[in-house]
Amino acid sequence: MSRTRTPSPQPYEIGMCRVCGCTDDDGCPPPGCWWPPGGLHTICSACAELDPAAKAARRAQAIDALWQRIEDQQEAVLSLKARRDRLVELERREAS
Ligand SMILES: [Zn+2]
Ligand SMILES: [Zn+2]
Repeated sequence: MSRTRTPSPQPYEIGMCRVCGCTDDDGCPPPGCWWPPGGLHTICSACAELDPAAKAARRAQAIDALWQRIEDQQEAVLSLKARRDRLVELERREAS
């Protein structure tokens, strides 16, 4: 991420924006964002400047993105399960 890390009081070494969910490793789209000085690492500069409606929209977007990720992972888990089932089935046939 393209953000200059501001020195932070511990233990907020790893920050996460409570509005958009961006983190040290995964910041806002260019031009990026940073942690506003003087605060905890709970809201990034990009979100700190937004008005409440824009914040809400951004949060909704972040939730959508998270859901998408969860669904992708579920699909991956399901395909792994199917693979396991096939292997178990094969094993059962060979054993009998
Ligand atoms: Zn943010
Ligand atoms: Zn951000």
